[in-house]
Amino acid sequence: MQTHSTQNSDRFKPRKITVESEKQYLSIVWADGHHSVYSFEGLRGNCPCVFCRGGHDKMGQPFELALFMKKPQRLRKITKIDQVGNYAIQIQWEDGHNSGMFKWEQLRTTCPVENGLIDADEYDRS
Ligand SMILES: [Zn+2]
Repeated sequence: MQTHSTQNSDRFKPRKITVESEKQYLSIVWADGHHSVYSFEGLRGNCPCVFCRGGHDKMGQPFELALFMKKPQRLRKITKIDQVGNYAIQIQWEDGHNSGMFKWEQLRTTCPVENGLIDADEYDRS
């Protein structure tokens, strides 16, 4: 059953996902044209898996925006991204951790660009 309006489903539907390993961020262009960037550090820090969250009851929590601004402690690498159904991506990290499912809705809602924390154009400038 479709509960979102067309506009909303565009908002939560990625059109293009790019892993910028050198610059340490994930770039998502959404169906509504918005461009989001997520630092690896923030993604890993917000890993929504039960292990990183510390319990099933904490799994639905929204991402912490501040983590996307956190200075990385080390270089991270994303080795693989799998799409999960039509609602999430599963990120595999270089250390083998891959149980976190990042829902479109969660990602878009905590987009650091949309929330005014960073400027996507600045990230794209090399
Ligand atoms: Zn995790």
